[in-house]
Amino acid sequence: MVVLILFYFALNMTTIAENIRHVKSEIPNHVTLVAVSKTKPNELLTEAYHAGQRIFGENRVQELVPKSETLPKDIAWHMIGHLQRNKIKYIAPFVSCIQSVDTVDLLAEINKQAAKHSRSILVLLQFHIAQEDTKFGLTLEEAETYLASTEFAKLRNIEIAGVMGMATFTDDELQVRTEFKTLKSIFGTLKSQFFSTKPSFKEISMGMSGDYKIAIEEGSTMVRVGSSIFGSRS
Ligand SMILES: *Cc1c(COP(=O)(O)O)cnc(C)c1O
Repeated sequence: MVVLILFYFALNMTTIAENIRHVKSEIPNHVTLVAVSKTKPNELLTEAYHAGQRIFGENRVQELVPKSETLPKDIAWHMIGHLQRNKIKYIAPFVSCIQSVDTVDLLAEINKQAAKHSRSILVLLQFHIAQEDTKFGLTLEEAETYLASTEFAKLRNIEIAGVMGMATFTDDELQVRTEFKTLKSIFGTLKSQFFSTKPSFKEISMGMSGDYKIAIEEGSTMVRVGSSIFGSRS
């Protein structure tokens, strides 16, 4: 019995490390892996940490803040979920990247809160590329208008590092591929219009457990993988 229990734990302990190794074996070196740990307990994040993972993605401020307080300080936390303006202040002291900037007026508030802590926060502009209207995101026009504005030119404490998007949840590979192509093209348009002299504008965050291979084929530089590392969420 004891042996069985130990065996069970031993199996469990290697699972996350193995999952990470497996995902990493399928992504090229230049693609960054964000381990999406939302809803998962600290023990599982610690396992991933011990397997060498240092970038974690969370989608709720209420969950991100306590995890960041408890877990090692060399973790880079990425906020990947819809963010309310009034909650930015709670993550501004430590968050490494806010991937889910889905309305342009979040930018001024992120800038303001980052300035209070004398830091600069990396952000990605989230675009609406999916068919589902439940998903959040900007349109290219909204982004272009804002990036050309004097208001944007005044922001000193954010750095726009690229774009993020989520494809439709579907088995239709062609549709998913087309949506990723759209995001890549939005990236290219913004790069040439506003960031051609900025090497820091370089990320195309697309691809999750079900579609990261397609995303990489379509030019992803950053994949956000949850269930393939930590198991499915209940
Ligand atoms: C949950 C989530 C992911 C990861 O999803 P999996 O299918 O579990 O890999 C990626 N990106 C965002 C924005 C998410 O909310």
